Amino acid sequence: MDQVFDGVSSVLKACQGLKTPCYVIDEKKLERNAEVLASVISHTGCRILLAQKAFSNYDFYPLISGYISGTEASGLFEAKLGKEEMPEGEVHVFSAAYRDDEISEIISCADHIVFNSIYQLKKFGPAAKKAGRSLGLRINPECSTQEGHEIYDPCAAGSRLGVTRGIWDREMTPEAIALLDGIHFHTLCEQGSDALEITLRAVEEKFGDILPQMKWLNMGGGHHITKEGYDVARLEKLLIYAKEKWDVQVYLEPGEAVALNAGYLLSRVLDVVENSGVKIAILDASAACHMPDVIEMPYTPPLLNASAGSSKQYVYTLAGPTCLSGDVIGQYGFDAELKTGDMLVFGDMAIYTTCKNNTFNGMPLPDLYRLKEDGRAERLTDFGYSDFKRRLGSS
Ligand SMILES: *Cc1c(COP(=O)(O)O)cnc(C)c1O
Repeated sequence: MDQVFDGVSSVLKACQGLKTPCYVIDEKKLERNAEVLASVISHTGCRILLAQKAFSNYDFYPLISGYISGTEASGLFEAKLGKEEMPEGEVHVFSAAYRDDEISEIISCADHIVFNSIYQLKKFGPAAKKAGRSLGLRINPECSTQEGHEIYDPCAAGSRLGVTRGIWDREMTPEAIALLDGIHFHTLCEQGSDALEITLRAVEEKFGDILPQMKWLNMGGGHHITKEGYDVARLEKLLIYAKEKWDVQVYLEPGEAVALNAGYLLSRVLDVVENSGVKIAILDASAACHMPDVIEMPYTPPLLNASAGSSKQYVYTLAGPTCLSGDVIGQYGFDAELKTGDMLVFGDMAIYTTCKNNTFNGMPLPDLYRLKEDGRAERLTDFGYSDFKRRLGSS
């Protein structure tokens, strides 16, 4: 909990009067994460990219770009964003399948293009190669290191992500392999370097004969590098091992680790209702719209001055204002009764939030604020009715 709300007093000071719900992104905490990543880069010679699908609030790219090597994109739009907003960095893209009508624009803005199948490599690789791009293929080492989160496990049975060794042996041709500069794997989610070690062993077992022919090896994201207790020394040992063993440039592309604990979602209590002895506080923030991973993953987000569950005296279910019965954030205990107008501060809200927001029920998009190093909050957006309406029709 400490790491989540470390420095939150400056948020409370700067943001007391703000209209809620809103996100506050803390530059100091973002910078602290970036420093950890920069030290991994300097100890190992690896390159680290921001996976934009987790955090793409580009007002902060100038700050981040001083520490890391570039951006990673899930497709054309993120690749364009990375190219435009972090132009000094490398632009990498991986997509489960590229489209005919997008590939030339992707080739024009990405430095590295990673394919998910040998078919796509053969189809789009020659043109990308001719344009001077560095090409990779995502492999699937068939090594699950996570339990219980099947939707976040690219090695789950039946996964469409990455080429297994069996498929590689069946479909790979000398012409296709000649197009390849690198190998990419992404199998982790919020995991430690022990899971990377297991995965790297599986990669070596299955693809160890291929790697010496490659220029680079991209180990994907899911590395919880900036989380308290993460074994950075073991990570660095693995990165150096790969670099020396196969003579490759190693890349990591974490999303979560870049902006871990660097943002807050501020919300206020609109009403408190009761059903069967359960007190339910209705907030102006919605799980479904503003913290979708709470429902998708699912998880109970950290909340300042409260604890998840019923260990404290005043217990409430916190829920959103939409019509969805399941728009529930979780059950929390407090030391005092909740009242209408009370402000609640959710932690670790910079990642997989603003970039996944929606306007279901006509919910407004929460505005974004930058908490600057000098302690002032600066508003970055002015979302309103037009952002809702523009996506729904012709006007
Ligand atoms: C999701 C993803 C990442 C980033 O994952 P985090 O868990 O946010 O670190 C990186 N690369 C690929 C291919 C991904 O799908």
